Amino acid sequence: MERKNAWTTYSEDETAKVMELGSDYRDYLDRSKTERECAKETVARAEKAGYKDLDSVSSLKPGDRIYVNTMGKAVQLYIIGEKPIEKGLNIVGAHIDSPRMDIKQNPMYEDSDLCYLDTHYYGGIKKYQWVALPLALHGVVAKKDGSVVDIAIGEDDGDPVVGISDLLIHLSATQLDKKGSVVIEGEDLDVIVGGMPLKDAEKDKVKSRVLQILKDKYGFEEEDFLSAEIEVVPAGRSRDFGLDRSMVIGYGHDDRVCAYAELDAMLGIEGIPEYTCCCILADKEEIGSVGATGMQAKYFENAVAEIMDKCGDYSELKLRKALASSKMLSCDVSAGFDPSYAYAFEKKNAAFLGRGVCFNKFTGSRGKGGSNDANAEYIGKLRAIMDENSVSFQTAEIGKVDQGGGGTIAFICALYGMNVIDSGVPVLSMHAPWEIISKADLYEAVKAYKAFLINA
Ligand code: MN
Ligand code: MN
Repeated sequence: MERKNAWTTYSEDETAKVMELGSDYRDYLDRSKTERECAKETVARAEKAGYKDLDSVSSLKPGDRIYVNTMGKAVQLYIIGEKPIEKGLNIVGAHIDSPRMDIKQNPMYEDSDLCYLDTHYYGGIKKYQWVALPLALHGVVAKKDGSVVDIAIGEDDGDPVVGISDLLIHLSATQLDKKGSVVIEGEDLDVIVGGMPLKDAEKDKVKSRVLQILKDKYGFEEEDFLSAEIEVVPAGRSRDFGLDRSMVIGYGHDDRVCAYAELDAMLGIEGIPEYTCCCILADKEEIGSVGATGMQAKYFENAVAEIMDKCGDYSELKLRKALASSKMLSCDVSAGFDPSYAYAFEKKNAAFLGRGVCFNKFTGSRGKGGSNDANAEYIGKLRAIMDENSVSFQTAEIGKVDQGGGGTIAFICALYGMNVIDSGVPVLSMHAPWEIISKADLYEAVKAYKAFLINA
């Protein structure tokens, strides 16, 4: 039952392809530090490949390629297939939001001649991992006049960075006796953004100088934080990891590595597929798939309805049949087996870096709670597709029974009655500022998603 390491199956030529894909992925990831940036980069790549905005077309026929952009934070791509959509779609779905810290609406204060921005963290993080490292500010400020200012500070070599301090080891006797979960507490994740007073300011001299810089450089005032979405993320680019360059260390592999694999698979499909292909890149997965851009919103079902209508073949019943007849891979990262923390895993049912794309029959916690438990018959079919297309794959649970757990968007799409299974790339240090994946697993994910979209 042990699965082969994918690297051992590659010729020299194929190894070169794996490396090439890895560097294109790094480029995508570096341009995608937030869900907005990821959506923008995805749409740019889709448009370059001939995809058109669904709003811009009045009718659709097999072979047409379209995209739907929801509030700049969630994207769907479709290729209209040969068969009527009523027969179902082949869907791959990932999420493009990642754990981070969001700037509060009234964030700015000065203390002891330093200026701070207060944050509220987003998604599950070990707070102690986010101190004492260079951080960048990415996002938008929406002003009252309707204009929106894009912010990205901390990525270019000449840019300053910001960050959160940690207590010096010399004075950490009290701190180091605390439980890991409270060594650094959520309310203490305050980002230092300045330390030079503005001489002629009346009060809050350091804050005044930072505000002046924001006004001069970005044209916004303190009150404009009220309608801003600024995310604090690790500063800097992804890097090849390991002396053999077999891995990538980067921010936000969860889940942009699966988003990229889906996109690359979609853009690699030529001609007219049998079934309509769909790629969903959703927002807000890390906080429960909520809100208008999260998977629980109706944008997917609305888009399918509109596409059927523009194909001249819409009815409420046909839409419901289309959704129930669909097949889906819910593409989200899996926990990579970590020998340093072997006690948290059950080795027979763990995902190993380098052994290919991972299928998770179920996720959840405390007895599979909250999971989508995929049907055996469906998995049987998928195994055949993977083997016929020489995809290296493995199966896994997130970890040992009752060690913890997690969820994905799988259960939400399964509500329509379609077959869904979780499938993704194993990650080390998941949800840390810098996560690690294997380039071979990314390569196998692209192969798997393409084989699924064409053959399922
Ligand atoms: Mn995820
Ligand atoms: Mn996650």
